[in-house]
Amino acid sequence: MALSEGDVLNALSAAAELGIDFYVENIHVSPETLTTVRDHIRAGNILIAGGTNPAGAVYDSDTDILWTPALVPPADEEDKALLVHECVHAMIDIYNTSHRAGRAMGELAAYLTQMTYLQRRIPNKTSNAPPGAVLFWPMLLKVVNDFDLGTAAGAGAHIPANRLEPMRLELMSVGTSYRYSAKMKAQSSGLSRQNPFLEMSPEPIYTRTTSVSYEALPDPGDGYLIDVLNEKYSTSNVKGYGDRLRRLRRDFLYCSKPRAIALRARLLTRIPTDKLSEAFYERLSHGGRAILLKILTMRS
Ligand SMILES: [Zn+2]
Repeated sequence: MALSEGDVLNALSAAAELGIDFYVENIHVSPETLTTVRDHIRAGNILIAGGTNPAGAVYDSDTDILWTPALVPPADEEDKALLVHECVHAMIDIYNTSHRAGRAMGELAAYLTQMTYLQRRIPNKTSNAPPGAVLFWPMLLKVVNDFDLGTAAGAGAHIPANRLEPMRLELMSVGTSYRYSAKMKAQSSGLSRQNPFLEMSPEPIYTRTTSVSYEALPDPGDGYLIDVLNEKYSTSNVKGYGDRLRRLRRDFLYCSKPRAIALRARLLTRIPTDKLSEAFYERLSHGGRAILLKILTMRS
């Protein structure tokens, strides 16, 4: 059991309603930019999947998948703050600001959003620093209070460099290992940043409910997958290739865990006697294979 897409969408709505609106360098967290994340989730460009870690969530920018904590829904306010933190990473990915602002600034923007959310929704609890964050947490809280980030008075605030730098240094010194930091295993995948799913025309939006169970879908069979892989496109049909990758990403993410493990064993290296493995290597680009294999690896 893990927090659902509905929990993520609810958290985003709540954060947007609070009017959180500030800048960390060129990263702009605002109701509008947070709502764009919501649109990408609703359009199926960013997929939500249940993670296995009860204490962490992660947005993986290689696959454009947000993994939620392994907690029973519905999310409480602290969980929602954590989900919004990850959505800020997704937002930075969408607006492609991270390469200019740097990874640490993205992390600070995410933490400040998380702290602003907490301070607005459960003000009496925000002073309780998680283990390992006894210095960092009060620094965040002080910036949130000094710049009125939790109120309309602070809308559009630019956090100055001399306030960001001490937080950056503290973050670097402790790493991102505490409960609220929510890093599972997104680092150094070796994949170049592609974001093939964020730039595409959205799928038609269809109604989903918070209780949707992907486990109820039938597993993608060999025949179906081989057919999908063997679909022919002209070399100029970028959308065709992109749509195929989107479909396979969804199939690999939402199939049963045993199926994911079996697929990984057959696709990790080319097996000439296996028609599916052959088609996977024959028909997909290196980048496409890397994305799909990363999903199978994260699920196993
Ligand atoms: Zn983060």
